[in-house]
Amino acid sequence: KDIDLTEFLTDSAKAFQNAYNRKIIFDSQMDTNAFIYSDEQKLKQLLFIFLDNARKYSDEKITITLSLNNKEETLINISDRGIGINQTELPKVFDRFYRIDKARSRKTGGVGLGLSLAKEIAEALDIDLQLQSVEGIGTTVTLVFNKNHKKLS
Ligand code: ATP
Repeated sequence: KDIDLTEFLTDSAKAFQNAYNRKIIFDSQMDTNAFIYSDEQKLKQLLFIFLDNARKYSDEKITITLSLNNKEETLINISDRGIGINQTELPKVFDRFYRIDKARSRKTGGVGLGLSLAKEIAEALDIDLQLQSVEGIGTTVTLVFNKNHKKLS
C-alpha cells in the first residue's frame, strides 16, 4: 500500500507523545508529502521500537526527521539526546538478548529483543537501517527506503 509518510509520521508522533507523555518533534524536510510503498502496520511497529528505545535511553525531546538523501532515497531519522552507545557495543546491539550493562543499570527493564526484531522487520520490508551513536551525546537511527519503495500504484 502507498503510505503518506508525512501523515503517518505526524500521527505516530502524536500517538507516541500522548501515550508516554514525551515530547516528539516531527520535522519534514520534504517539499511535498512523501509517499512510499510498504506495509503500514509493520512500519509502525518498526518506528515504535526505535521511539521506545529513544524514550528509555534519553530524557529530552525525541526528533523524527523526514528527508531525501543525495540518491533521492527517502530517509526517516529518529534521534535522541540520551546516554548513547559506545563504538565497541554499536555492532552488537542488533543481536538477540544483547543489552548494555550501563543501560541495564538504568532499570529500564527490557530483555534485549527490540532491535533484533527491528532488524527482522526492516529486512522483510527491504528497509536499510543505520545506527549512529555517540556515548553521552545521543543516538540516531536512520531508515533508508530504496527505489523499490517508489512504485506508485
Ligand atoms: P527490549 O527487549 O525491551 O527492547 P532493550 O531496549 O534492552 O529491551 P534493544 O531494543 O534490543 O533491547 O536494545 C539493545 C540495547 O541497545 C539496549 O539494552 C541499550 O543498551 C542499547 N540501546 C538501544 N537503543 C538505544 C538508544 N536509543 N540509546 C542508547 N542505547 C540504546
